[in-house]
Amino acid sequence: MTAPTAAVRDLALALPSRDLPAYLYDLDALGAHAARVRAALPERVELYYAAKANPEPRLLETLSPHCDGFEVASGGELAHVAAAVPGRPPAFGGPGKTPDEIRSALRAGIHRIHAESLHELRVLARLTDGPGRPLGVLLRFNLPLDPETARGSALAMGGTPSPFGIDPADADEAVRLVTGAPGLALRGVHAHLASGLDAPALLSVARSVVGWAEELTARHRLPLHEVNIGGGMGVDYARPGDRFDWTAYGHGLGELLASRPGLRLRVEPGRALTAYCGWYATEVLDVKRSRDEDFAVVRGGTHHLRTPATKGHDQPCTVLPVGTWTEPWPRPAARSGRVTLTGQLCTPKDVLARGVPAPGLRAGDRVLFGLAGAYAWNISHHDFLMHPRPGFHFLGTDGGPAPGPTVPGAGT
Ligand SMILES: *Cc1c(COP(=O)(O)O)cnc(C)c1O
Repeated sequence: MTAPTAAVRDLALALPSRDLPAYLYDLDALGAHAARVRAALPERVELYYAAKANPEPRLLETLSPHCDGFEVASGGELAHVAAAVPGRPPAFGGPGKTPDEIRSALRAGIHRIHAESLHELRVLARLTDGPGRPLGVLLRFNLPLDPETARGSALAMGGTPSPFGIDPADADEAVRLVTGAPGLALRGVHAHLASGLDAPALLSVARSVVGWAEELTARHRLPLHEVNIGGGMGVDYARPGDRFDWTAYGHGLGELLASRPGLRLRVEPGRALTAYCGWYATEVLDVKRSRDEDFAVVRGGTHHLRTPATKGHDQPCTVLPVGTWTEPWPRPAARSGRVTLTGQLCTPKDVLARGVPAPGLRAGDRVLFGLAGAYAWNISHHDFLMHPRPGFHFLGTDGGPAPGPTVPGAGT
């Protein structure tokens, strides 16, 4: 896998056992990654970060200079993002927005609202029926995804019956509702159809969404200003060294825009921006053999890092051997070449990674789980079994260098 940076590795070894598990975020790596993503996107493609992937304020601050805005999907996220990165334009999406959430969004001066249903459009029309600048609306549609693309996606949200977006059959009525409301201004279309796609697949989605949006607005003799083509850029947990091909994606979007001088595109990735900067550091508490298989129980578990349990994958990890063993009895160690890493929860679902090649893994060794910067801590069921919460450490930017190793024999 992508090796942890020296700063991450040093800190994972330096923290005393009682301070583990801990989330380590490499802010310098995040900033550099976001800068590369931004640089790969052509002019007239705006980059928004989908805050639900990881709303940690230090991450939002680090991303802010590289992003045009933030996508929020609840009143809670809206308030949180406004406090963490004040003055950055928020776009408000998500199904089931309450009238109170919409009112606070209007007070906060949101940049765009992504309308999810005809009912929501009617609520919006009523709540904006007063003085003031019209609210920019993108109509979110549940557009068909071609079967080939749907098969390659980890999490399809479009093309099949779903609670997300407006059904294409209601498109004309949706347009009429917006154009008939003095407080609303139709800016274009939004479509976040699937997650976990590669660049060619997402480009084909983008082309079909733009084509569909053009037909819709042409039918109503309206200009098409913007298309938000969503997030969903793939993160490959099985091949963590691979990266979404932002260069090819940016190039393809540039071609799409070349013949459309009046159009602006927006992308709103979450996972592919922050997954790589986060690490869950822990130590092996015990190693045991059960019916010819080796199990290592680590401090913490899926109540902190739920990602492998929800996605049904093995979380990529790196073992950091620790030399010292001070107990007078033999050190528990794996006898085979492959070890299943589990957590402290009393449920068979608490598995972080199966069959990890870790010959001789011992109690006291440390483990760094990677790709833990998105949909990790913030989606986990923290209170289940009442174990202590992990620590949080931020490396880089103004965080200063990591302290040197304090664990005797660390790294040997
Ligand atoms: C979750 C979500 C995103 C981000 O998806 P990723 O797979 O994390 O890139 C973007 N837009 C909408 C509407 C979403 O629901």
